[in-house]
Amino acid sequence: MELGFDYCGIAKAGRLDEDALRLEKWLGQGMHGSMTYMENHFDKRVDPTLLVPGAKSVITVLKNYYTPEQVPEDGLKISKYAMGNDYHEVIRAQMNELLDRIRGQVGEISGRGFVDSAPVMERSWAKRAGLGWVGKNGNLITRTGGSFFFIATLITDLELLYDDPFAADFCGSCTKCIDACPTGAILPNRVVNGSQCISYFTIELKELLIPSEMKGQFDNWAFGCDTCQDVCPWNRFSKPHQEEAFNPLPELLNLSTREWEAVSEESFRKIFRHSPVKRAKWQGLQRNIRFLKDNGQENS
Ligand code: SF4
Ligand code: SF4
Repeated sequence: MELGFDYCGIAKAGRLDEDALRLEKWLGQGMHGSMTYMENHFDKRVDPTLLVPGAKSVITVLKNYYTPEQVPEDGLKISKYAMGNDYHEVIRAQMNELLDRIRGQVGEISGRGFVDSAPVMERSWAKRAGLGWVGKNGNLITRTGGSFFFIATLITDLELLYDDPFAADFCGSCTKCIDACPTGAILPNRVVNGSQCISYFTIELKELLIPSEMKGQFDNWAFGCDTCQDVCPWNRFSKPHQEEAFNPLPELLNLSTREWEAVSEESFRKIFRHSPVKRAKWQGLQRNIRFLKDNGQENS
């Protein structure tokens, strides 16, 4: 918490047998679409001891990114996690500090911190570390703070006391996320079809065009989508984050979609130089805006 994390839990490192079966099936059904990188390093993905030789413990930390601030009615609708500066840089620095502090207490240990940067099944580790459950929308949900969190893991050869895994599932009979998903990507059997998710189309898909069969379904989202989290009753417990770097970029709060359309590649690079939005690149963002506009979903 001193370093800026909101939750922490520890699990014993080992192979994630059940998750391996689920992942294999999910990949086999092509639910990752064109994200072929998800097929890579399967064995390491399901077993951190192959990723970090000698690994004994997986320390999972969560960092809140919830912001109540919203883009204007006619602005660029983007996922909350991407409204500020890039979480990778912020969290990596805090993870390094965590490792330094552990070393300061127990001496030289091996450890590697991961933030989206390697094949680690973060949600499964968070659940194993007792932090929450994986909801029907595929997000890790905590009972006291909802789901707007980044998840990072520190895999180490240090043996520690382990938390009990989170055994309960507090989704119950709720289906709000399934009912609200604009593209029907959340299936009733607790599977999220990544290849149908708006985040996939607006961020991961590198094609010049978004498939026309998706027209009219994006609910005006231009980068990512928060709908299944926004409707989740557990997110009534969300509190504004305390990380200055995650504060929304002023341009996002001020520019209309029409103005974003006119933003040059050079300005895009400048505005988003430290932002997760740079992943879509200027061409990608313009493609997304055009797609919304062509389908009558643009606000301006
Ligand atoms: S992020 Fe949006 S499109 Fe993707 S599963 Fe959730 S509600 Fe559906
Ligand atoms: S909206 Fe309901 S079903 Fe979906 S993740 Fe939240 S609690 Fe679970």
